[in-house]
Amino acid sequence: MSEHDKPAYRPETLAVRAGQQRSQFGEHAEALYLTSSFVFESAAQAAKRFSGEEEGNVYSRFSNPTVSMFEERLAALEGAEDCVATASGMSAIMALVLAHLKQGDHIVASNSLFGATVQLFSNILARTGITTTFVSHTDPAAWEAAIRPETRLFFLETPSNPLTEIADISALTAIAHAHGILVAVDNCFCTPIVQRPLDLGVDLVVHSATKYIDGQGRVLGGAVCGAKKLTDEVFKYLRTAGPTLSAFNAWVLLKGLETLQVRIEAQAARAARLAAWLETHPKVARVFYPGLPSHPQHQLAMQQQKSGGAIVSFEVKGAREQAWAVVDNCRLLSITANLGDVKTTITHPASTTHGRITPEARAAAGISEGLLRVAVGLEAVEDLQDDLARGLALI
Ligand SMILES: *Cc1c(COP(=O)(O)O)cnc(C)c1O
Repeated sequence: MSEHDKPAYRPETLAVRAGQQRSQFGEHAEALYLTSSFVFESAAQAAKRFSGEEEGNVYSRFSNPTVSMFEERLAALEGAEDCVATASGMSAIMALVLAHLKQGDHIVASNSLFGATVQLFSNILARTGITTTFVSHTDPAAWEAAIRPETRLFFLETPSNPLTEIADISALTAIAHAHGILVAVDNCFCTPIVQRPLDLGVDLVVHSATKYIDGQGRVLGGAVCGAKKLTDEVFKYLRTAGPTLSAFNAWVLLKGLETLQVRIEAQAARAARLAAWLETHPKVARVFYPGLPSHPQHQLAMQQQKSGGAIVSFEVKGAREQAWAVVDNCRLLSITANLGDVKTTITHPASTTHGRITPEARAAAGISEGLLRVAVGLEAVEDLQDDLARGLALI
């Protein structure tokens, strides 16, 4: 714990100060320690460091001072006792599961998770004998009904992508804990600025730091946050299996955390304005944004989130042709599936992120051909409106 980690500090302060360790040179900004290994003063010290008897760095697959600064700062923002960083969001999810589950164990997961998470659970982890039942994101009774004696983990992500459906974190946690089951939340969409699942009783939070925590689309990274007795297992897995965060990426993400709050608040404010404008547009059939009073779960969203976040989805009046016309007439919005960037992005989920699932499954999940997802960045809302209005006018 550094001198700046005193819990009395508010999140804005923790974001720019928590976790910093200064070297003997007194650098003001956090240093980037590009070194694969660390030297010891003696053979005896080397032995103690390897056995864990003495704390300290050994090898950057185990720990690195720049990575540690990022971990402490993110832990402070999530209100977590501890955090371990990973090479990507997917390696955070994989590490969490393989650290805590074994062959024969069972997961209950939301049916509207990030696509690669679904693939990880249903293909890769299934081959190791860890099975998953996917249940309705918004129906706690379905989660309870899916519990088996070997269920070890509830895994969810809220709001869902791209329909922004809200999972009731407190209700699902109460069900899981009554059965001794761990709960993990992928908090990538909200970040700790908008939602702090650990405060609602969740055991572990995972992040794709690639998205909002970087915020400028440069590097991949991930993290698992929670009580140290749980993250220690993840750390043991990582130091052996290897998908740890690189020092350079940690340094970029550490600086990303400093502006996370101002970025998210500004992006969410723009998203709220854009959603309200879309809702009044004659060529728009429906808007999905938790911050809108018309969102069916607006109240629940506002109970567990500080704002609606910065992802807005909407259905145009029409199908694929009309949705693609909106995309293809954008000059400003970037056509990319990434999100969380200060540059606004637009995606047609049915033909990209959700293109691999069958049309029937897509329809059942509510991903229509007219649906578009906008991850709102920092441009002027009026410019975003003008860009979308061009394609909408052609419908
Ligand atoms: C992008 C994303 C991931 C995966 O993260 P990577 O850093 O790309 O591995 C996981 N969950 C959600 C919600 C995401 O958006």
